[in-house]
Amino acid sequence: MSAVAEAVAIAPETREFLDRDHKLFIDGKWVDAHSGEKHAVYDPATEGQIATFDVADEVDVEAAIAAARRAFKGEWSTMNSYQRTILLTRLADEIDANLQTLAELEVLDNGQPMALAQYTTTYAANFVRYYAGWPTKIHGDTIPVSPMGVPNGESLTYTRREPVGVVGAIIPWNAPIAMFILKLAPALAAGCTIIIKPAELTPLTALKLCDLIQKIGFPPGVVNVIPGAGRIAGAALAEHPDVAKISFTGSTEVGQRIVQSCLGNLKKVTLELGGKSPVVVFPDADLEAVKVGAIRAAFFLQGQNCMAGTRLFVHQDVFDEVVQGVAAIANAMKIGPGLDPNNDLGPLISADQREIVMSYIQAGKDEGAELICGGEALPGKGHFVQPTIFAHPHQDIKIAREEIFGPVLFAQPFGDSDLQAIAAEANDSIYGLSGSVWTKDISVGLKMASLIDSGQVSINCHAAVDPAIPFGGNKMSGWGREFGQEGLEPYLKTKSTTVIF
Ligand code: NAD
Repeated sequence: MSAVAEAVAIAPETREFLDRDHKLFIDGKWVDAHSGEKHAVYDPATEGQIATFDVADEVDVEAAIAAARRAFKGEWSTMNSYQRTILLTRLADEIDANLQTLAELEVLDNGQPMALAQYTTTYAANFVRYYAGWPTKIHGDTIPVSPMGVPNGESLTYTRREPVGVVGAIIPWNAPIAMFILKLAPALAAGCTIIIKPAELTPLTALKLCDLIQKIGFPPGVVNVIPGAGRIAGAALAEHPDVAKISFTGSTEVGQRIVQSCLGNLKKVTLELGGKSPVVVFPDADLEAVKVGAIRAAFFLQGQNCMAGTRLFVHQDVFDEVVQGVAAIANAMKIGPGLDPNNDLGPLISADQREIVMSYIQAGKDEGAELICGGEALPGKGHFVQPTIFAHPHQDIKIAREEIFGPVLFAQPFGDSDLQAIAAEANDSIYGLSGSVWTKDISVGLKMASLIDSGQVSINCHAAVDPAIPFGGNKMSGWGREFGQEGLEPYLKTKSTTVIF
């Protein structure tokens, strides 16, 4: 069955995993989907089928939620914080030990280049390690008040931080391992149980991670993984009254639908949504660093990246040099299957996504933007699109306003305006997720960083991510933050207790 890119060998463990019968992971066991429905997984680089998996429906969602509820009230709730730390640390070690297979599955499932898959897998292990340190540090306060007229010294008020309960996590296809771990690690550190619904297109690494979770010995039901359709399994999870919180990463449009679904029991919601992030380059910047940085910002994950720096604003004095330099690097990028370590850019996730991206490229041409480089899909098998750059003097065109989620960069010059005016251009978007400022003048850098309306701004780099740095969006890029201590908060609730003695 396997049509894995034949030119590059994959590890025997990876092939053995691909050829397995992939079921749902509920209550610590592999179970058949209620409907018996199976879907195929395709390698976006070859378009060949590489695996099949069971598809969850509402009945499976119900079973997963019941298992997570039992686990939340059962053995998991009696484990102390050190035991949660130990289990999470073991998971991090298992991810490291299975790095090559996880990375190969990520490449085959999602299309990203191998070096990136290895990096994100290592990152995922470290992300788990970071949150493994938290269970012993979650605590409440004592509050120095004497309520209800009680004399001072005759009462005690304290708070406890308790896990919110059963968490539903709904994740996208663009970085499957990372997305899985970003949800799982803080939820388990807080003491919650979780049901994760991977994206329909990329279930494989989520299922492989269940092998590791099973091996480590998390109590049954603490982690449940149910690949399925968004409008069926995802919607059932979001609507369910026994789910206390939904953690969603995906498009702004679906995020809005999730909010509607969550209204029934007013469950807590965090949303990590789309972006159209600015990269602002001042003329004194290290232009060689800018060129490499702009490439990474725009074309990381083939541009299928919420943090992507897709609007490049460059001072007019260096605009041509920067844009031509970025184009030269883009033109030299090797495009091909991610399994081949020589390739810099992999395929888009699907034929549909390629069609969407190509329609934006056509819109850029139709609306009169100057095509600097790229602009074509590659012929033959695989959903490959050239890294593409457009230049235009203003943002009143579709490619500057909408999230494309593909390798398309919009570039615009700016003159000697004041920082407020430059920031107004950078902020002229419904989104506010990431952004970067490039300058050797730290005062300009810090002022611009404070003016950019995004959840995260980097100076002289783009999208600096670390497990300890809060990450999330302003405006229509989302609600709440992930990563760091703030990323733990949505999985906790505060209980105040007062005793009068
Ligand atoms: P998507 O919104 O189409 O799907 C995301 C998830 O939601 C999938 O698991 C899907 O099955 C599920 N879903 C779809 N309809 C649903 C419904 N009605 N109810 C419940 N669940 C439903 O997004 P995508 O195409 O998988 O990913 C691309 C989008 O994700 C982009 O907009 C990108 O910017 C965003 N994204 C954001 C971040 C971030 O951290 N801010 C990270 C990665 C991706």
